[in-house]
Amino acid sequence: MRLRLPCLRALRVSGVNPMHRPRERHGRIEGRRGVELRKRRLAAEPLCRDCKARGRVRASTVPDHIKPLAQGGTDTDDNIRCLCSECHDKRTAEQFGTRARVMIGVDGWPI
Ligand SMILES: [Zn+2]
Repeated sequence: MRLRLPCLRALRVSGVNPMHRPRERHGRIEGRRGVELRKRRLAAEPLCRDCKARGRVRASTVPDHIKPLAQGGTDTDDNIRCLCSECHDKRTAEQFGTRARVMIGVDGWPI
């Protein structure tokens, strides 16, 4: 049996297709707009904030929510700090009460 989809033209209100609104989950902007936002935030803060505070220079790779979305934080620039993935893992572990991921060196031992 074929699934009948509603006519998209019928859903259109004032030229805006409601099916094409930016998707959000737990307040996080997703889709193409989310990707652009991530790129813009990393370009605005190219160095990891936590590493910089410890005198290290490392590229930021993750826009981190200072107050996590899951704990009621917002997906706005004032709630964002850019971190490297290592610092992001540490912060996430602190915020959610889990252990930080153990990094394994080329010799097979934890770093
Ligand atoms: Zn870092």
